[in-house]
Amino acid sequence: MQLTLPKHDIVLLGVGYTNAHVLHMWKMKPIPDARLTCVSNYSVATYSGMLPGVLAGQYPTSRVQIDLVRLCASAHAHLIVDQVIGLDTAERRLLFESRPPLPFDLLSVGIGSVPTREGVESLDDTILAMKPPSQDHDPATQMRCARGSNQ
Ligand SMILES: Cc1cc2nc3c(=O)[nH]c(=O)nc-3n(C[C@H](O)[C@H](O)[C@H](O)COP(=O)(O)OP(=O)(O)OC[C@H]3O[C@@H](n4cnc5c(N)ncnc54)[C@H](O)[C@@H]3O)c2cc1C
Repeated sequence: MQLTLPKHDIVLLGVGYTNAHVLHMWKMKPIPDARLTCVSNYSVATYSGMLPGVLAGQYPTSRVQIDLVRLCASAHAHLIVDQVIGLDTAERRLLFESRPPLPFDLLSVGIGSVPTREGVESLDDTILAMKPPSQDHDPATQMRCARGSNQ
């Protein structure tokens, strides 16, 4: 049983392609005297690189989704599920939509990107944005609806 608090607070903002790998490495070799906290706006992360395979019907959506609750628990990391709305670099704190700020000693930011739709003329359901990922986002269902229910 640990009797003292860890000296260092390490925070991973976003648990997608980048930070999920950090979490995996942490699981194999944690940094001594440090506490790891993961922050994500969803409790499930979608691996966008495999979405074309979902759309092609090669595998179900569940195959590209990572359960962050289980992943963090297996690495003995804390998980905070909330939307980060800002970064206070002077005070070294993450700012949230619906909870108090989270202090950190070290922060790794991996929140991906948001594609622009500028210049895209046709804005209908046949155009799917792979980013940002969302928990409810099921590209396979969305694509089938856009094609019509008989396909
Ligand atoms: C079809 C496809 C194929 C690709 N193939 C390759 C490839 O072969 N090689 C390659 O290097 N790259 C590839 N990429 C690009 C790669 O997927 C991205 O570069 C990568 O996902 C970015 O990693 P990330 O961890 O920064 O973000 P993401 O993997 O997008 O994860 C970001 C996470 O942060 C969370 N988040 C976002 N904003 C907030 C917020 N405000 N508060 C809290 N949480 C937040 C999201 O929920 C998400 O879980 C591909 C992309 C696509 C779409």
